Amino acid sequence: MLVPIQYCSNCGAKVEVKIPPGEDRERFVCTACQMVHYQNPKLVVGTLVEHEGKLLICKRAIAPRRGYWTLPAGFHELGESTMTGAIRETHEEAGAIVRLVAPFGHFDIPHIGQAYVFYRAAFESLGYHAGPESLEVKLIEPDDIPWKELAFDVVRIALELYMEDRQHGAPRYHQGAITVKPGATRDLGYCELTERLTVPIG
Ligand code: ZN
Repeated sequence: MLVPIQYCSNCGAKVEVKIPPGEDRERFVCTACQMVHYQNPKLVVGTLVEHEGKLLICKRAIAPRRGYWTLPAGFHELGESTMTGAIRETHEEAGAIVRLVAPFGHFDIPHIGQAYVFYRAAFESLGYHAGPESLEVKLIEPDDIPWKELAFDVVRIALELYMEDRQHGAPRYHQGAITVKPGATRDLGYCELTERLTVPIG
């Protein structure tokens, strides 16, 4: 599942797909300077912000899945920790200044080359508003989670685990892979959680 590239970012010559010496899989390799262009999963960082039993959710203003609900999250940037990134994304998307209170989970999505890291968070000071990438931001009762209008399976699965934790009566840490269900069609519900680990925290 290499993302296609044409030219070497080092010297500008054409790249070709080949297995570099000593490696076990195909890479894009420069035909002139031989630089190997490694591609690795991208990390998305985000939060579950709780306030008085309610949860902060955002309606997406951008593709993909514009108009659908999600948790505040976005791509981890170079030069920041995942925790700093989760706080930054929450501010950018939901206008909220939060502090992280616990790790929530790590979810790999191998078929799209992404992984999500979520933290539980609380308002540093109460306040939120839709940032440029959101149409609307609101605090909702967990019973009002718009299950049929969620943007992504990883968000649905994170929220299902969040609801499990509430029933369980204590926060827990979750890890797993989001994988395509056998025979599923591409829609919400296309993926399921596999390789699941859930452990108590604290
Ligand atoms: Zn090159």
